[in-house]
Amino acid sequence: MAARPAGEVTPVLTAHGVRRSFGPTVVLDGVDLAIRPGEVVALLGGSGSGKSTLLRILAGLDADAAGLVDRPKDLAVVFQEHRLLPWKRVLDNVSLGLTGPGVRERALAALEEVGLRGRDTAWPVELSGGQAQRVAVARALVREPALLLLDEPFGALDALTRLRMQQLFNRLRDQHGFAALLVTHDVEEALLLADRTLVLEDGRLVEDSPVTLPRPRTPDDPGFGTLRRHL
Ligand code: ADP
Ligand code: MG
Repeated sequence: MAARPAGEVTPVLTAHGVRRSFGPTVVLDGVDLAIRPGEVVALLGGSGSGKSTLLRILAGLDADAAGLVDRPKDLAVVFQEHRLLPWKRVLDNVSLGLTGPGVRERALAALEEVGLRGRDTAWPVELSGGQAQRVAVARALVREPALLLLDEPFGALDALTRLRMQQLFNRLRDQHGFAALLVTHDVEEALLLADRTLVLEDGRLVEDSPVTLPRPRTPDDPGFGTLRRHL
């Protein structure tokens, strides 16, 4: 087998020439992107710039888009709203749609990972916004996806809860090694979490820039001061 040139890896996701219009409005006008295994890419852009539209296309949730998308089957999506089923207990939300031996144990382990051990029998309505979003993250993780697509996952949370979730994301990312596309309108969040940032504007990606700040930025970092006690 021929050796791969150094630095070249097969992307976990590629999109080519993605276009989407709603009536006369062109929202995506030819988007190309590739995400490498284990890479976290932030997608920035103003409100209405088409971030969610692109994410839904990449997730395979939009049959009317044009362009080529190549992605793994084992992907998971986390939306801004947790989208838990209110009539199912937390554990059943996490294991939703999964069958086979060990599913319950895996779901319990995922809950433990997001800090919700012991809440498995709770109903979604009994959870805070942050806890519900942790469950949504556990539901994604238990599928052990190669790729996570997240649409402003922490955008509806208060500032401290958001920071905790960002720390959780960094920890999980280090442990699991998934690749992720993280839609956010929060530049700070992009810098805290991503290896690379894209900017969507007028239907196109106008910026593709690596983040070279040192990682990991965890609560162990002295830069967090005494705030780390609350993370
Ligand atoms: P963002 O997530 O960046 O805020 P969206 O992808 O949600 O932006 O929306 C981009 C544009 O596409 C907006 O102008 C929005 O109104 C429009 N749009 C999104 N979904 C639909 C839809 N199903 N029907 C009509 N217009 C839509
Ligand atoms: Mg959106």
